[in-house]
Amino acid sequence: MTNPLAPARHPASWQQELAEAVTDPAELLRRVALPDTMLEAARAAGRQFRLRVPQGYVARMRRGDPTDPLLRQVLPLADELVDVPGYVHDPVGDLDAMTTPGLLHKYRGRALLVTTGACAVHCRYCFRRHFPYGEANPAREDWQAAIDHLRDTPSITEIILSGGDPLVLSNERLGRLLSALEGIGHLKRLRIHSRLPVVLPARVDASLLRLLSDTRLQPVMVIHANHANEFDTAVGQALAALRAQGVTLLNQTVLLRGVNDTAEALGDLSEILFDNGVLPYYLHLLDRVAGAGHFDVPAREGQALIETLRTRLPGYLVPRLVREIAGEPGKHPIA
Ligand SMILES: *Cc1c(COP(=O)(O)O)cnc(C)c1O
Ligand code: SF4
Repeated sequence: MTNPLAPARHPASWQQELAEAVTDPAELLRRVALPDTMLEAARAAGRQFRLRVPQGYVARMRRGDPTDPLLRQVLPLADELVDVPGYVHDPVGDLDAMTTPGLLHKYRGRALLVTTGACAVHCRYCFRRHFPYGEANPAREDWQAAIDHLRDTPSITEIILSGGDPLVLSNERLGRLLSALEGIGHLKRLRIHSRLPVVLPARVDASLLRLLSDTRLQPVMVIHANHANEFDTAVGQALAALRAQGVTLLNQTVLLRGVNDTAEALGDLSEILFDNGVLPYYLHLLDRVAGAGHFDVPAREGQALIETLRTRLPGYLVPRLVREIAGEPGKHPIA
């Protein structure tokens, strides 16, 4: 048995890896051995929402394949510049639900804190690609207004750290936030929504593991993987270390055209998740955010995929197909 609290293979290097993410489309295309003919479109679409992808994630892409499911999630395409009717800037009504700057209290019992606007990777389909993080970012005053609201609202028993990506924050800042949250007696659970264990597994370092094992709150982490090819040894080690600290691991996926829109892709994803101790949680229909129309898979096609998965997988490996509808009291079940 390896000691899960032992330093990661590259001690204290996650911040460097984060800083060295690929942001130049020419570099990305070169690394995956694709021609410069895709460069102009990538530059144009990247001006709206910048390219950003850690090198370790790029290394998991197939070379010379423009349809690679990992590449498609991060490479800006001309398709993004096409105006599609019905695709808007704030498709899930986040701005209306903001009780306090950065705190979204839409559903009973749980509230979501936007801890930072930053992410390690820029997913082209992201519903927050136009989110005004500058105005909504509560981090400047150490989340004080949000903490006050949580303390005054005893019905909230679970706090969800989201973003952006909360694990982009340093362990020191996370530690301070956790201490403040632990001081609120009615909070029972700490949920972290993060793509970092998948896109930058070195982030799961010894001091993060210590924070999660020491907290009195029950820790849940919802990772975000969309395809089986996103898993490698380092990802597996990070997930095993989290589990060893008693963190419940769940996964959310976005159903994406050209990435995971087949029963094979979704079935393989569920299998590899469970191989790594993670249960599939939500399969989200795409939020209709401007610039992401080319990723859409219609609801009835999603439903048919779920029906097929039910014939191939144990029930606990079939994710819940949902859509977020502004104003509803929870995620809307589709199938
Ligand atoms: C998705 C979401 C949650 C979590 O919903 P669960 O069904 O508990 O996973 C909570 N708050 C907000 C604002 C959300 O968008
Ligand atoms: S990591 Fe999450 S919040 Fe960040 S761009 Fe991707 S989907 Fe959006």
